[in-house]
Amino acid sequence: MCVDCRWWQIEPQAIATHQTTGACREPDMSVVLLRVTGNSGCGKFASGAPSRSEGASGKPPAPPPNF
Ligand code: SF4
Repeated sequence: MCVDCRWWQIEPQAIATHQTTGACREPDMSVVLLRVTGNSGCGKFASGAPSRSEGASGKPPAPPPNF
């Protein structure tokens, strides 16, 4: 699901695949730095293209500006 979710955020140059890692930026989950692969998913799925940001696939992902 994440690979097709608008809340998924990946590295600027990453190719979005089921194995790609990125951050979940869904607003209700913004209290944690959740790292997910493209083949992860949850009930907050919203169809759309992922956003991109440096550090999104870090362990843990880089925090968003308002974290
Ligand atoms: S964990 Fe859920 S909300 Fe977050 S990117 Fe994946 S499908 Fe979307």
